[in-house]
Amino acid sequence: MSTSQPTPLQYHSAQWVIPIDGPPIEWGFLAIEGPHIHSVGQYADCPPSAQCPVPKPGSLITPGLLNTHIHLEQSFSQPIPKEPQQSFIDWLLAVIESNRSRASSTDKLERCRFGVQECLQSGVTCVNDIASGPESIQALQEAGLRAMVALEVFHPGYEPIQIAHWLEAYQKLQQASALAPLITLGLSPHALYNVSIPAWQALQRTLQPAFIHTHLAEVEAELDYLAQKPSAIDQLHQQVLGKTFRVEKPLPSPVQGLLDNHLLSQPTILAHAIHTSPTDRKALGQVPVGIAHCPRSNLALHGRTLRWADWESTNIPVGLGTDGRLSTATLDLREEARLAQRLHGWSDAQTLRALTLDGAKVLGQARQLGSLTPGKRADWVRWQAAPDSARHCPEKQVLEASTSVQAVMIDGQWRYERTSPC
Ligand SMILES: [Zn+2]
Repeated sequence: MSTSQPTPLQYHSAQWVIPIDGPPIEWGFLAIEGPHIHSVGQYADCPPSAQCPVPKPGSLITPGLLNTHIHLEQSFSQPIPKEPQQSFIDWLLAVIESNRSRASSTDKLERCRFGVQECLQSGVTCVNDIASGPESIQALQEAGLRAMVALEVFHPGYEPIQIAHWLEAYQKLQQASALAPLITLGLSPHALYNVSIPAWQALQRTLQPAFIHTHLAEVEAELDYLAQKPSAIDQLHQQVLGKTFRVEKPLPSPVQGLLDNHLLSQPTILAHAIHTSPTDRKALGQVPVGIAHCPRSNLALHGRTLRWADWESTNIPVGLGTDGRLSTATLDLREEARLAQRLHGWSDAQTLRALTLDGAKVLGQARQLGSLTPGKRADWVRWQAAPDSARHCPEKQVLEASTSVQAVMIDGQWRYERTSPC
Protein backbone atom coordinates (compact mmCIF):
# COMPACT_ATOMS: atom_id res chain seq x y z
CA MET A 1 0.00 0.00 0.00
CA SER A 2 1.43 3.38 -0.96
CA THR A 3 0.95 6.49 1.09
CA SER A 4 1.08 9.78 -0.78
CA GLN A 5 2.95 12.55 0.98
CA PRO A 6 1.25 15.96 1.06
CA THR A 7 3.01 18.52 -1.16
CA PRO A 8 5.05 20.84 1.07
CA LEU A 9 3.95 24.47 1.02
CA GLN A 10 6.32 27.07 -0.38
CA TYR A 11 6.08 30.47 1.29
CA HIS A 12 6.87 33.83 -0.34
CA SER A 13 6.50 37.27 1.13
CA ALA A 14 6.35 40.92 0.12
CA GLN A 15 5.65 44.31 1.59
CA TRP A 16 2.45 44.22 -0.44
CA VAL A 17 0.60 41.11 -1.59
CA ILE A 18 -2.17 42.20 -4.00
CA PRO A 19 -4.58 39.31 -4.52
CA ILE A 20 -7.00 41.33 -6.78
CA ASP A 21 -10.01 39.40 -5.40
CA GLY A 22 -9.52 41.20 -2.07
CA PRO A 23 -7.75 44.26 -0.64
CA PRO A 24 -3.93 44.50 -0.75
CA ILE A 25 -2.22 42.90 2.27
CA GLU A 26 0.63 44.91 3.79
CA TRP A 27 3.55 42.74 4.97
CA GLY A 28 1.91 39.67 3.51
CA PHE A 29 2.68 36.13 2.39
CA LEU A 30 1.70 33.89 -0.49
CA ALA A 31 1.79 30.11 -0.02
CA ILE A 32 2.09 27.79 -3.03
CA GLU A 33 1.20 24.11 -3.09
CA GLY A 34 2.59 22.45 -6.22
CA PRO A 35 1.10 24.24 -9.23
CA HIS A 36 -1.64 25.90 -7.15
CA ILE A 37 -2.10 28.87 -4.89
CA HIS A 38 -2.71 27.64 -1.37
CA SER A 39 -3.32 30.82 0.61
CA VAL A 40 -2.46 34.47 1.20
CA GLY A 41 -2.32 36.30 4.51
CA GLN A 42 -0.37 38.43 6.94
CA TYR A 43 3.30 37.60 7.34
CA ALA A 44 2.81 37.79 11.10
CA ASP A 45 0.33 34.90 10.81
CA CYS A 46 2.73 32.53 9.03
CA PRO A 47 3.21 29.33 11.01
CA PRO A 48 6.68 29.17 12.62
CA SER A 49 7.48 26.07 10.58
CA ALA A 50 6.79 27.90 7.29
CA GLN A 51 10.32 29.27 6.88
CA CYS A 52 8.79 32.30 5.17
CA PRO A 53 11.43 34.89 4.25
CA VAL A 54 11.13 38.32 5.87
CA PRO A 55 9.31 40.68 3.46
CA LYS A 56 11.62 43.11 1.67
CA PRO A 57 10.61 46.79 1.74
CA GLY A 58 9.29 47.91 -1.65
CA SER A 59 8.55 44.37 -2.81
CA LEU A 60 5.12 43.51 -4.26
CA ILE A 61 3.41 40.28 -5.30
CA THR A 62 0.57 40.22 -7.86
CA PRO A 63 -1.04 37.64 -10.12
CA GLY A 64 0.71 37.32 -13.50
CA LEU A 65 -0.42 39.66 -16.26
CA LEU A 66 -2.47 38.34 -19.20
CA ASN A 67 -1.88 39.66 -22.71
CA THR A 68 -5.19 39.11 -24.51
CA HIS A 69 -3.99 39.82 -28.07
CA ILE A 70 -0.53 39.22 -29.45
CA HIS A 71 1.18 37.97 -32.62
CA LEU A 72 4.45 36.46 -31.39
CA GLU A 73 5.58 35.79 -34.97
CA GLN A 74 5.64 39.55 -35.50
CA SER A 75 8.19 40.14 -32.73
CA PHE A 76 10.56 42.10 -34.93
CA SER A 77 13.15 44.18 -33.13
CA GLN A 78 11.70 47.32 -34.71
CA PRO A 79 8.03 48.10 -35.50
CA ILE A 80 7.09 49.25 -38.99
CA PRO A 81 5.69 52.71 -38.27
CA LYS A 82 2.65 53.90 -40.16
CA GLU A 83 3.30 57.27 -41.80
CA PRO A 84 0.75 59.96 -40.90
CA GLN A 85 -0.61 60.16 -44.47
CA GLN A 86 -0.56 56.39 -45.03
CA SER A 87 -3.86 54.49 -44.83
CA PHE A 88 -4.10 51.38 -42.68
CA ILE A 89 -4.47 49.24 -45.81
CA ASP A 90 -1.37 50.81 -47.40
CA TRP A 91 0.54 50.16 -44.17
CA LEU A 92 -0.68 46.55 -44.17
CA LEU A 93 0.46 46.09 -47.77
CA ALA A 94 3.87 47.53 -46.88
CA VAL A 95 4.11 45.09 -43.95
CA ILE A 96 3.16 42.11 -46.13
CA GLU A 97 5.80 43.11 -48.69
CA SER A 98 8.48 43.63 -46.06
CA ASN A 99 7.72 40.27 -44.42
CA ARG A 100 8.10 38.22 -47.60
CA SER A 101 11.85 37.97 -47.11
CA ARG A 102 11.55 37.14 -43.38
CA ALA A 103 9.00 34.31 -43.50
CA SER A 104 11.21 31.24 -43.01
CA SER A 105 10.44 28.97 -40.09
CA THR A 106 13.86 29.75 -38.58
CA ASP A 107 13.18 33.49 -38.73
CA LYS A 108 9.74 33.03 -37.18
CA LEU A 109 11.05 30.84 -34.37
CA GLU A 110 13.74 33.37 -33.54
CA ARG A 111 11.17 36.17 -33.38
CA CYS A 112 8.81 34.07 -31.24
CA ARG A 113 11.60 33.35 -28.76
CA PHE A 114 12.41 37.06 -28.58
CA GLY A 115 8.73 37.93 -28.02
CA VAL A 116 8.24 35.24 -25.36
CA GLN A 117 11.24 36.49 -23.38
CA GLU A 118 10.01 40.08 -23.58
CA CYS A 119 6.63 38.97 -22.24
CA LEU A 120 8.17 37.06 -19.33
CA GLN A 121 10.52 39.90 -18.44
CA SER A 122 7.58 42.31 -18.27
CA GLY A 123 5.52 40.15 -15.92
CA VAL A 124 3.21 38.43 -18.41
CA THR A 125 2.35 34.83 -17.53
CA CYS A 126 -0.28 34.07 -20.21
CA VAL A 127 -0.63 35.23 -23.81
CA ASN A 128 -3.39 34.89 -26.38
CA ASP A 129 -1.35 34.38 -29.53
CA ILE A 130 -2.26 34.22 -33.22
CA ALA A 131 0.00 31.90 -35.21
CA SER A 132 0.46 30.82 -38.81
CA GLY A 133 2.58 27.80 -37.83
CA PRO A 134 3.95 25.82 -34.89
CA GLU A 135 6.93 28.12 -34.15
CA SER A 136 5.32 30.09 -31.34
CA ILE A 137 4.23 26.86 -29.63
CA GLN A 138 7.86 25.70 -29.61
CA ALA A 139 9.07 29.01 -28.18
CA LEU A 140 6.29 29.06 -25.57
CA GLN A 141 7.04 25.51 -24.48
CA GLU A 142 10.77 26.15 -24.18
CA ALA A 143 10.10 29.10 -21.86
CA GLY A 144 7.16 27.59 -19.95
CA LEU A 145 4.85 30.52 -20.73
CA ARG A 146 1.11 29.74 -20.56
CA ALA A 147 -0.75 30.45 -23.79
CA MET A 148 -3.81 30.18 -25.93
CA VAL A 149 -2.63 29.82 -29.53
CA ALA A 150 -5.00 30.18 -32.47
CA LEU A 151 -4.31 29.25 -36.08
CA GLU A 152 -4.70 32.31 -38.26
CA VAL A 153 -6.90 31.74 -41.31
CA PHE A 154 -7.34 33.89 -44.43
CA HIS A 155 -10.14 32.63 -46.69
CA PRO A 156 -12.20 35.41 -48.26
CA GLY A 157 -13.48 33.16 -51.08
CA TYR A 158 -16.58 30.97 -51.06
CA GLU A 159 -16.11 27.90 -53.24
CA PRO A 160 -14.34 25.61 -52.95
CA ILE A 161 -13.63 25.87 -49.22
CA GLN A 162 -10.05 24.83 -48.57
CA ILE A 163 -10.79 22.53 -45.63
CA ALA A 164 -7.90 20.11 -46.27
CA HIS A 165 -5.31 22.90 -46.39
CA TRP A 166 -6.36 24.45 -43.08
CA LEU A 167 -6.92 21.08 -41.42
CA GLU A 168 -3.33 20.15 -42.22
CA ALA A 169 -2.10 23.47 -40.79
CA TYR A 170 -4.18 22.94 -37.64
CA GLN A 171 -2.88 19.39 -37.22
CA LYS A 172 0.69 20.75 -37.21
CA LEU A 173 -0.26 22.95 -34.27
CA GLN A 174 -1.93 19.98 -32.56
CA GLN A 175 1.21 17.89 -32.95
CA ALA A 176 3.42 20.71 -31.67
CA SER A 177 1.24 21.20 -28.58
CA ALA A 178 0.45 17.54 -27.88
CA LEU A 179 2.78 17.48 -24.85
CA ALA A 180 2.24 21.08 -23.80
CA PRO A 181 -0.24 21.22 -20.91
CA LEU A 182 -0.01 25.02 -20.66
CA ILE A 183 -1.16 25.55 -24.26
CA THR A 184 -4.77 25.60 -25.49
CA LEU A 185 -5.47 25.55 -29.23
CA GLY A 186 -8.00 27.71 -31.03
CA LEU A 187 -8.89 29.10 -34.42
CA SER A 188 -8.34 32.66 -35.60
CA PRO A 189 -10.34 33.59 -38.68
CA HIS A 190 -8.42 36.85 -39.27
CA ALA A 191 -11.50 39.07 -39.65
CA LEU A 192 -14.90 38.88 -41.27
CA TYR A 193 -13.55 40.76 -44.31
CA ASN A 194 -10.81 38.16 -44.78
CA VAL A 195 -12.77 34.96 -44.07
CA SER A 196 -16.11 34.37 -45.78
CA ILE A 197 -18.99 33.24 -43.61
CA PRO A 198 -19.30 29.78 -45.25
CA ALA A 199 -15.55 29.20 -44.85
CA TRP A 200 -15.65 30.37 -41.21
CA GLN A 201 -18.59 28.08 -40.44
CA ALA A 202 -17.03 25.08 -42.17
CA LEU A 203 -13.65 25.50 -40.48
CA GLN A 204 -15.15 26.03 -37.04
CA ARG A 205 -17.30 22.91 -37.50
CA THR A 206 -14.46 20.75 -38.83
CA LEU A 207 -11.56 21.81 -36.59
CA GLN A 208 -13.61 22.00 -33.35
CA PRO A 209 -11.27 24.56 -31.72
CA ALA A 210 -11.54 25.29 -28.00
CA PHE A 211 -12.02 28.99 -28.73
CA ILE A 212 -12.12 31.61 -31.48
CA HIS A 213 -9.90 34.71 -31.65
CA THR A 214 -10.59 37.32 -34.34
CA HIS A 215 -10.08 40.96 -35.25
CA LEU A 216 -13.39 42.79 -35.11
CA ALA A 217 -14.49 46.25 -36.20
CA GLU A 218 -10.92 47.50 -36.33
CA VAL A 219 -11.13 49.59 -39.52
CA GLU A 220 -13.91 51.64 -41.09
CA ALA A 221 -13.24 50.02 -44.47
CA GLU A 222 -14.39 46.74 -42.89
CA LEU A 223 -17.88 48.19 -42.35
CA ASP A 224 -18.08 49.42 -45.95
CA TYR A 225 -16.89 46.09 -47.31
CA LEU A 226 -19.48 44.15 -45.31
CA ALA A 227 -22.17 46.59 -46.49
CA GLN A 228 -21.17 45.76 -50.12
CA LYS A 229 -19.85 49.28 -50.68
CA PRO A 230 -16.55 50.00 -52.46
CA SER A 231 -13.77 49.97 -49.85
CA ALA A 232 -10.03 49.78 -49.35
CA ILE A 233 -10.52 46.09 -48.54
CA ASP A 234 -11.02 45.52 -52.29
CA GLN A 235 -7.57 47.06 -52.88
CA LEU A 236 -6.10 44.75 -50.22
CA HIS A 237 -7.62 41.63 -51.76
CA GLN A 238 -6.67 42.67 -55.28
CA GLN A 239 -3.04 43.33 -54.42
CA VAL A 240 -2.48 40.35 -52.15
CA LEU A 241 -4.76 37.73 -53.71
CA GLY A 242 -5.08 39.01 -57.28
CA LYS A 243 -8.86 39.42 -57.21
CA THR A 244 -11.68 40.99 -55.25
CA PHE A 245 -14.47 39.31 -53.30
CA ARG A 246 -17.98 40.34 -52.37
CA VAL A 247 -20.02 39.31 -49.35
CA GLU A 248 -23.06 37.24 -50.28
CA LYS A 249 -25.46 39.79 -48.81
CA PRO A 250 -24.93 43.13 -47.07
CA LEU A 251 -24.26 42.91 -43.33
CA PRO A 252 -25.30 45.78 -41.04
CA SER A 253 -22.11 45.48 -38.95
CA PRO A 254 -19.32 42.99 -38.24
CA VAL A 255 -20.97 42.10 -34.92
CA GLN A 256 -24.35 41.48 -36.54
CA GLY A 257 -22.68 39.51 -39.31
CA LEU A 258 -21.13 37.15 -36.77
CA LEU A 259 -24.27 36.89 -34.66
CA ASP A 260 -26.69 36.35 -37.53
CA ASN A 261 -24.55 33.48 -38.76
CA HIS A 262 -24.19 31.81 -35.36
CA LEU A 263 -20.45 32.46 -35.21
CA LEU A 264 -20.37 33.68 -31.60
CA SER A 265 -21.84 30.63 -29.92
CA GLN A 266 -18.53 29.45 -28.46
CA PRO A 267 -15.93 31.39 -26.39
CA THR A 268 -14.59 34.14 -28.63
CA ILE A 269 -12.02 36.87 -28.12
CA LEU A 270 -12.68 39.98 -30.19
CA ALA A 271 -9.64 42.19 -30.73
CA HIS A 272 -9.93 45.99 -31.14
CA ALA A 273 -13.75 46.48 -31.38
CA ILE A 274 -13.32 50.16 -32.24
CA HIS A 275 -16.42 50.60 -34.41
CA THR A 276 -19.46 49.21 -32.60
CA SER A 277 -22.99 50.52 -32.06
CA PRO A 278 -25.18 50.35 -28.93
CA THR A 279 -27.13 47.55 -30.70
CA ASP A 280 -23.90 45.64 -31.27
CA ARG A 281 -22.80 45.96 -27.65
CA LYS A 282 -26.20 44.95 -26.30
CA ALA A 283 -26.12 41.82 -28.47
CA LEU A 284 -22.52 41.00 -27.45
CA GLY A 285 -23.64 40.99 -23.83
CA GLN A 286 -25.71 37.86 -24.58
CA VAL A 287 -22.87 35.70 -25.96
CA PRO A 288 -19.58 34.33 -24.51
CA VAL A 289 -17.20 36.99 -25.79
CA GLY A 290 -14.43 39.17 -24.34
CA ILE A 291 -12.75 42.25 -25.77
CA ALA A 292 -8.99 42.51 -26.27
CA HIS A 293 -8.36 46.23 -26.03
CA CYS A 294 -5.11 47.36 -27.71
CA PRO A 295 -4.94 51.13 -27.27
CA ARG A 296 -1.32 51.63 -28.41
CA SER A 297 -1.82 49.71 -31.65
CA ASN A 298 -5.20 51.33 -32.24
CA LEU A 299 -3.84 54.86 -31.86
CA ALA A 300 -0.75 54.11 -33.96
CA LEU A 301 -2.65 52.52 -36.84
CA HIS A 302 -6.07 54.16 -36.70
CA GLY A 303 -5.70 57.33 -34.63
CA ARG A 304 -8.56 56.22 -32.40
CA THR A 305 -9.53 53.46 -30.01
CA LEU A 306 -12.70 52.16 -28.39
CA ARG A 307 -14.58 54.60 -26.17
CA TRP A 308 -14.50 53.28 -22.61
CA ALA A 309 -17.78 55.08 -21.84
CA ASP A 310 -19.42 52.73 -24.35
CA TRP A 311 -18.24 49.59 -22.59
CA GLU A 312 -18.01 50.31 -18.87
CA SER A 313 -21.68 49.69 -18.18
CA THR A 314 -21.82 46.44 -20.19
CA ASN A 315 -21.18 43.04 -18.66
CA ILE A 316 -18.62 42.26 -21.38
CA PRO A 317 -15.10 41.72 -20.03
CA VAL A 318 -12.41 44.01 -21.44
CA GLY A 319 -8.73 43.09 -21.07
CA LEU A 320 -5.54 44.52 -22.51
CA GLY A 321 -3.46 43.33 -25.45
CA THR A 322 -0.29 44.64 -27.04
CA ASP A 323 -1.09 43.38 -30.56
CA GLY A 324 2.02 42.45 -32.55
CA ARG A 325 5.37 44.18 -32.40
CA LEU A 326 4.83 45.48 -35.93
CA SER A 327 2.48 48.11 -34.59
CA THR A 328 3.72 48.61 -31.03
CA ALA A 329 7.25 49.37 -29.88
CA THR A 330 7.31 46.79 -27.08
CA LEU A 331 5.37 43.84 -25.67
CA ASP A 332 5.38 45.41 -22.18
CA LEU A 333 1.72 45.15 -21.17
CA ARG A 334 2.11 47.75 -18.44
CA GLU A 335 2.79 50.35 -21.16
CA GLU A 336 -0.58 49.42 -22.64
CA ALA A 337 -2.15 49.79 -19.20
CA ARG A 338 -0.64 53.20 -18.53
CA LEU A 339 -2.02 54.50 -21.84
CA ALA A 340 -5.46 52.99 -21.17
CA GLN A 341 -5.44 54.60 -17.73
CA ARG A 342 -4.64 58.03 -19.19
CA LEU A 343 -7.24 57.68 -21.97
CA HIS A 344 -10.07 56.28 -19.88
CA GLY A 345 -9.47 57.74 -16.41
CA TRP A 346 -9.17 54.29 -14.83
CA SER A 347 -8.17 54.09 -11.17
CA ASP A 348 -4.94 52.28 -10.30
CA ALA A 349 -6.89 49.32 -8.92
CA GLN A 350 -9.10 49.16 -12.03
CA THR A 351 -6.02 49.26 -14.28
CA LEU A 352 -4.30 46.43 -12.42
CA ARG A 353 -7.53 44.45 -12.58
CA ALA A 354 -7.67 44.94 -16.37
CA LEU A 355 -4.15 43.48 -16.54
CA THR A 356 -5.03 40.44 -14.46
CA LEU A 357 -8.54 39.24 -13.57
CA ASP A 358 -10.35 41.04 -16.39
CA GLY A 359 -7.80 39.63 -18.84
CA ALA A 360 -8.50 36.16 -17.46
CA LYS A 361 -12.24 36.72 -17.94
CA VAL A 362 -11.67 37.77 -21.55
CA LEU A 363 -9.77 34.52 -22.14
CA GLY A 364 -12.40 32.43 -20.35
CA GLN A 365 -9.78 31.46 -17.74
CA ALA A 366 -10.99 33.31 -14.65
CA ARG A 367 -11.63 30.07 -12.75
CA GLN A 368 -7.92 29.26 -13.02
CA LEU A 369 -6.08 32.55 -13.47
CA GLY A 370 -6.10 36.28 -12.79
CA SER A 371 -6.10 36.48 -8.97
CA LEU A 372 -4.26 35.01 -6.00
CA THR A 373 -7.28 32.96 -5.02
CA PRO A 374 -6.66 29.64 -3.22
CA GLY A 375 -7.01 26.79 -5.73
CA LYS A 376 -6.11 28.85 -8.80
CA ARG A 377 -2.91 28.14 -10.74
CA ALA A 378 0.29 29.55 -9.23
CA ASP A 379 0.97 32.20 -11.92
CA TRP A 380 2.35 35.28 -10.19
CA VAL A 381 4.98 38.01 -10.25
CA ARG A 382 7.31 39.53 -7.66
CA TRP A 383 8.04 43.21 -8.31
CA GLN A 384 10.41 45.70 -6.71
CA ALA A 385 9.36 49.34 -6.49
CA ALA A 386 11.86 52.21 -6.50
CA PRO A 387 12.30 53.82 -3.05
CA ASP A 388 10.44 57.00 -3.99
CA SER A 389 7.35 54.98 -4.98
CA ALA A 390 6.63 54.04 -1.39
CA ARG A 391 4.29 57.02 -0.93
CA HIS A 392 1.89 55.63 -3.56
CA CYS A 393 -0.82 53.00 -3.13
CA PRO A 394 0.46 49.50 -3.93
CA GLU A 395 -1.47 49.19 -7.20
CA LYS A 396 0.12 52.40 -8.47
CA GLN A 397 3.53 51.13 -7.43
CA VAL A 398 3.06 48.07 -9.67
CA LEU A 399 2.04 50.24 -12.62
CA GLU A 400 5.00 52.62 -12.39
CA ALA A 401 7.69 52.27 -15.05
CA SER A 402 10.40 52.42 -12.37
CA THR A 403 9.04 49.24 -10.75
CA SER A 404 10.87 46.18 -12.05
CA VAL A 405 9.95 42.53 -12.46
CA GLN A 406 12.06 40.45 -10.08
CA ALA A 407 10.69 36.96 -10.65
CA VAL A 408 7.90 35.20 -12.51
CA MET A 409 6.32 31.89 -11.51
CA ILE A 410 4.00 29.97 -13.84
CA ASP A 411 2.14 26.86 -12.73
CA GLY A 412 4.37 26.65 -9.66
CA GLN A 413 7.65 26.83 -11.63
CA TRP A 414 10.10 29.74 -11.76
CA ARG A 415 10.20 30.94 -15.36
CA TYR A 416 12.13 34.18 -14.96
CA GLU A 417 14.42 35.53 -12.25
CA ARG A 418 16.13 38.87 -12.59
CA THR A 419 19.84 38.45 -12.10
CA SER A 420 21.11 42.02 -12.27
CA PRO A 421 20.67 44.28 -9.23
CA CYS A 422 17.44 46.29 -9.33
ZN1 LIG B 1 -3.82 41.70 -34.25
